[in-house]
Amino acid sequence: MATKPSETDSERGQSTRSVHSGSQRIKGYHSLTTPIVQTATYTFRNTQELVDFMESKVWGDGVDRGEYGRYGNPTIAAVERRLAELDAGEDAVLYGSGMAAITTLLLAVLPSGAHIVMTDDCYRRTRQFCQTYLRRLGIATSIVPAGDYDALEGAIRPGKTRFLITESPTNPYLHVVNMERFAAIGKRSRTLTIIDSTFATPVNQRPLEWGVDFVMHSATKYFSGHNDMMGGVIVGRSQHIRALKDARGVLGSVLDPHSAYLLERGIKTLGLRVQQQNETAMHVANFLEEHPAIEQVWYPGLSSHPEHHIAKEQMDGYGGVVSFTIHGDLQQTSRFIDRLRIPYIAPSLGGVESLIEQPALMSYYEKTPRERQELNMHDNLVRFAVGIEDAADLIADLTQALAAVH
Ligand SMILES: *Cc1c(COP(=O)(O)O)cnc(C)c1O
Repeated sequence: MATKPSETDSERGQSTRSVHSGSQRIKGYHSLTTPIVQTATYTFRNTQELVDFMESKVWGDGVDRGEYGRYGNPTIAAVERRLAELDAGEDAVLYGSGMAAITTLLLAVLPSGAHIVMTDDCYRRTRQFCQTYLRRLGIATSIVPAGDYDALEGAIRPGKTRFLITESPTNPYLHVVNMERFAAIGKRSRTLTIIDSTFATPVNQRPLEWGVDFVMHSATKYFSGHNDMMGGVIVGRSQHIRALKDARGVLGSVLDPHSAYLLERGIKTLGLRVQQQNETAMHVANFLEEHPAIEQVWYPGLSSHPEHHIAKEQMDGYGGVVSFTIHGDLQQTSRFIDRLRIPYIAPSLGGVESLIEQPALMSYYEKTPRERQELNMHDNLVRFAVGIEDAADLIADLTQALAAVH
């Protein structure tokens, strides 16, 4: 579907990469899977070995062993290589959560007095970090409407703006950013660009191939795929990622080796899961759009979606999240959700289990109705993150629950 502007080194498909890239063998064990090197520190046989290690560190001629858990781990390094390949990047760095990834990136690079520009549909905690924590450090954030490229370019302060940050597709309205235009604005203004690509995964889009500088994911979602671990990753050019690994060693935002193992295990089925989720979400979106109890559906694969033409150009699939409003108020919408038998009521997305939530009661509960209205978080809005259950079962479940409120 998408025409890739550049081919990556490897001509292999995403499922082959998901299964094989970065596989780590440890001599003598003949283990097929990457061993979990569950250690906080690494030993030196004698003082000479320590001195040799320190010399190679000082002279920067490649360190190929561990020193201390916060600075590196072979299990984590193996997963990082796999993630770099999947997103067509030179290198990747893993963190203890998606938020640890984005906050470490910003703290590592931004000097005091700097400025960043972010689109208005960004992950709520990312926005909160910029507007409260970074502000205290004298770093200003401008927020522009997603999809308004003139506003994005106009908000750049020459010599001050260091980052342009966006998300695609966004949460919960699944806006799709034109990555080529976004990257071009960054290049023209010598500003680094970041895309949070969590909702897409590298199976559906690879922002680095469109010229974006950093791609970020919450690995908690599709990469893990099983709702059983938390992690975050940033992929980009080697020189940038090296600095981010150093920053991780100082800020302490590390992943633990056991979670890295779970993550690698999850990634092996990423291609299969995401293709199934793309397909199921498309069925669900089509079904909902035809249903009389539904007011509006947001899904990038629908031709009614405002950025469908962009999604078609740059994505290989449209993801597993469908958002919609039903005809009814807050209570009627809750009643519909409570009638469903398959999806769990929970935040998050990307796992094998379908999850459903009413943003007005989940992420925006403490806001007043008026504030929610201003944020476009309508009482009757539902976010449905499909799992890998049979599409027919999910649609039958939606049918019976909608019948009860309609
Ligand atoms: C979940 C999420 C995050 C945060 O990741 P955590 O792993 O929960 O810290 C950031 N961005 C998006 C789009 C997310 O969905």
